[in-house]
Amino acid sequence: MVAMDKIVSLCKRRGFIFQSSEIYGGTGSCWDYGPLGVELKNNIKRAWWRDSVQSRGDMVGLDASILMHPRVWKASGHLDHFADPMVDCKVCKGRFRADKLEDARCPQKPSKQPGQHDACQLTEPRMFNLMFKTFMGPVEDEAAVAYLRPETAQGIFVNFENVQQSMRLKLPFGIAQIGESFRTEITPGNFTFRSREFEQMEIEFFVMPGTDEIWYQRWLDERFAWYAKYGIRKENLRLREHDKDELAHYAKRTADIEYLFPMGWSELEGVANRADFDLKQHAQFSGKTLEYFDEESKQKIVPFVIEPSAGADRGTLAFLVDAYREEEVKGEKRVVLQFHPELAPIKIAVLPLLKKNPQIVETAHKLCADLRKRWHSVYDDTASIGRLYRRQDEVGTPFCVTVDVQTVGDEQAAADGKVTIRDRDNMQQIRVPLASVNAVMEELMDGGWAEVHRQHGVARG
Ligand code: ATP
Repeated sequence: MVAMDKIVSLCKRRGFIFQSSEIYGGTGSCWDYGPLGVELKNNIKRAWWRDSVQSRGDMVGLDASILMHPRVWKASGHLDHFADPMVDCKVCKGRFRADKLEDARCPQKPSKQPGQHDACQLTEPRMFNLMFKTFMGPVEDEAAVAYLRPETAQGIFVNFENVQQSMRLKLPFGIAQIGESFRTEITPGNFTFRSREFEQMEIEFFVMPGTDEIWYQRWLDERFAWYAKYGIRKENLRLREHDKDELAHYAKRTADIEYLFPMGWSELEGVANRADFDLKQHAQFSGKTLEYFDEESKQKIVPFVIEPSAGADRGTLAFLVDAYREEEVKGEKRVVLQFHPELAPIKIAVLPLLKKNPQIVETAHKLCADLRKRWHSVYDDTASIGRLYRRQDEVGTPFCVTVDVQTVGDEQAAADGKVTIRDRDNMQQIRVPLASVNAVMEELMDGGWAEVHRQHGVARG
């Protein structure tokens, strides 16, 4: 498993993720996605949206606002229960999560867990609410208090009736949402794993009571398979069912999909059976009946809810960590991010073999412009071909296309009108006519290297 500091340094060096406000010393728990990071994260969110909403017949989407009526958080239980136990150290003034002391480090040297130095003086744990508090409007009094949402789910529950009626939905159906959430985590850390501002990808799937256990299992299987589909190795994924005493106040059952992050197995996504808790709470606090009329039984019922709740940032981190490989090629170290082509920030790099040859350069520019209409492609001529390949390997570009003298011809030889396509993972090369690059790429992006190589194969590069 790769160490986290290697991922952090690659992310900064190659434009994936930067520390927020870095020139001011940084805000430790907030992160900025750079040019390649924003592509990667967008690709992950797009794949999730397409697979969870657009390609299913039983799901719709929503984009609710971050600021909501403060009563929402009373009804949901967040005001009373959304708190972590915190301890302070009277000596070093550090603040730590009492239930995660084993993950924390005391600022005193040598590096130890808080409480393990003789000098440590930890207070008794006290509960600390995780919601960011702010004020709506210019007056900072109790009546104007508002909260930044700590999860996107509540925006879905309070819109249950709007969505169900406007779209005439029949059970079972789900509502999906991607959006920012905020938590004043006591001990953020492990890079983007625990931030104070992060994005969630949440589904609330409403079902007939009594069918909830079946749907809970279906969603668990579905979500687990989703990470594997986009390339996460199965041995780095596992399910962990919560014990009864660990369950959140709303949950009948919960399981975490965990990933083997560099700091150990940690939650990537939670799948919960929330029963009818949320709709009932909002009905009680708002005075509106949030029910569903079942045509068959002619009865009004409160649906049960299955919630697969994923983090876009934790997902991005897991895909980065899992894609990272170090290999030795011809006595040199090669770093490669083996992203699934659909997630890769750049799909194709077009590289001219000789930048002094205007015909090569022009052909390469034209090809790149053409490929760009369909795939995110870049042109690069700022180094030797070996370096250009390594550069693209390190950011996970699945295919490089090189234009050379043979492509355009010279005084000695006629043009063959072909370019070389190189595969990032096996480093094999094929030579294909310029006119068929688009069609070949289509096949390659679908994982068709073996077949294409059989048709066009040339020697290993
Ligand atoms: P943890 O136990 O790690 O604090 P949680 O159980 O509180 O997580 P949930 O409330 O279930 O997390 O949130 C659903 C998902 O949102 C998580 O699986 C994770 O992917 C993401 N998430 C939650 N908190 C954070 C955070 N502080 N930073 C980044 N992602 C987060």
